[in-house]
Amino acid sequence: MFEIKAKDGLGRIGKLKINKKSIETPTLMPVINPNKIVIAPKDMADYGAEIIITNSYIIYRTNKLKEAALEKGIHKMLDFNGVIETDSGSFQMAAYGDIEIENKEILQFQKDIGVDIGTFLDIPTHPDSSYQKTLSDLEITLERAREAVEFDLNLNGTVQGGTHLDLRKKSAAEMSNLPFTVNPIGGVVPLMMEYRFSDLVDVILTVKGTLSPARPVHLFGAGHPMLLSLSVLLGCDLFDSAAYVLYAQDSRYLTSYGTKKLNEMKYLPCNCPVCRKYTPQELINESETKRLELLSSHNLYATFEELKIIKEAIHEGTLFELVETRIRSHPRLLLAYRKIKDYYSLLEEYDPITKRSALFYTGEESNFRPIVRRTKERTKDLTSKIYEDHLFFGKYPKELEFTYPFGQCEMEEERKEKGDPDLTDENTIMVIADYQFGIGVGEKLFHDAVIKRSKTKMIRYVYDQNGTMIATLRARDGLFTPNIEGSKRLKEIIPFPKNRIVVDDEAAPFIKEGANVFSKFVLDMDNTLRAYEEVLIVNSKDDLLGTGTLMLSPREIKAFERGMAVRTRWGIDKNNSTQESQIED
Ligand SMILES: [Zn+2]
Repeated sequence: MFEIKAKDGLGRIGKLKINKKSIETPTLMPVINPNKIVIAPKDMADYGAEIIITNSYIIYRTNKLKEAALEKGIHKMLDFNGVIETDSGSFQMAAYGDIEIENKEILQFQKDIGVDIGTFLDIPTHPDSSYQKTLSDLEITLERAREAVEFDLNLNGTVQGGTHLDLRKKSAAEMSNLPFTVNPIGGVVPLMMEYRFSDLVDVILTVKGTLSPARPVHLFGAGHPMLLSLSVLLGCDLFDSAAYVLYAQDSRYLTSYGTKKLNEMKYLPCNCPVCRKYTPQELINESETKRLELLSSHNLYATFEELKIIKEAIHEGTLFELVETRIRSHPRLLLAYRKIKDYYSLLEEYDPITKRSALFYTGEESNFRPIVRRTKERTKDLTSKIYEDHLFFGKYPKELEFTYPFGQCEMEEERKEKGDPDLTDENTIMVIADYQFGIGVGEKLFHDAVIKRSKTKMIRYVYDQNGTMIATLRARDGLFTPNIEGSKRLKEIIPFPKNRIVVDDEAAPFIKEGANVFSKFVLDMDNTLRAYEEVLIVNSKDDLLGTGTLMLSPREIKAFERGMAVRTRWGIDKNNSTQESQIED
């Protein structure tokens, strides 16, 4: 079971429950080579690992390991209580040609040794293979996939198709339709080894555009911290790292901005237990075994640290800003990031409408964020008394100068004069409402408005002539949260099904009392809504039940069986307006 807790771009913080064990994504599974353990699985929790991955084919092939695994089970054998995923030998097949095992045989073995997530024997076709070869490999993979889902086991349904994007699409569509637990993206290791990051972006976004958003995506073979933030932004949730050991074997030191050679370093720019204690020279002076262990340890710390930085960026809504600093560690990454503008519709659909933090312009690449085109499109038909020119968003109504994203944007330009004697408060709130709810809404919503300013002299509350509050203008982003009266008005002004989420009658009494809306109770909704937008909650007869903040994009709400769809601000029978929404705390 998988659910989303917070999102930014296509990235998400998720909770994945496997066999009563719960892991938070995005996360990394350290690769354990059962024949050569460098950091013991039982110590992995100290680094932050909740899931590890090992290779069932290697265990199967090595008599001593095979017997131990069958006798004790994989968790006891490796001495790890968390989630254990196994690969099937596909990678060995890609590297060494053929392997001596059948699909059903390796699946049965994974089931017998008690793995939490298994993998069937898919074929990772090399990215440079011809269309014909990739297609025939894919057909075998799909046949084996259908065979695999007959096993009672949580499984990876790995998407293949090389760099042929229509084959990736076909593969993703078929894997989505089969009951897999995770949908990894496979066959991308050569792309990463050769720094072909643009091809990687094409593959990831093509697959993400086809897969159901309700399943976690594992980017197979990606474990370098430098690549993680971009991969998460594009919607990958799980990563595996053999890199922490492989690079250490080569005396290479991982950082989130690239790889360094230990013998060229004078300082260790990290504060993990290893780097606090050693200098580069001291590490070099250690025995080979000890150095491997110490350097692997640092590499793993550095990778998990980057994951925490990424999660915090999702939480505060600054994942694009983080990625735009990371892509500057390699020119090929910078070029690859520019690809996102070719996938505007996909990114726009998932990117929240408002964020906790201000936008930071970090350079030319910032223009490729979906928010730039979205904001231009959402403002182009608004009428205003005074227009301003914004370096990021172009011409916009000055009434929106405190509203997200215009008022929450840091750029190099000198800030313009705030306010204008020709702008009245009445006009300002109407333009904001038009921007937020649709053209023409403002005039009807606020025809009798009485405006109250905050202590800091900002427009804050809008009442009607009788003193009933219609809406609050949020300080954080200058957008409205409608109160009961405002929501009743919006329902009359905006025709069904615009701006609405329609819920099952079974859930209606609870929502009226202020309960949150869960995905499984949603019957339908306005597909043009975006995550973190204010919505009206209605039943199928369009009776108003409440209002709140949409937590996911419409496609996610339709795909997920679990998780919250709307954080209810108030139910029609119970004013819950003191309850702060998640994105406001
Ligand atoms: Zn370190």
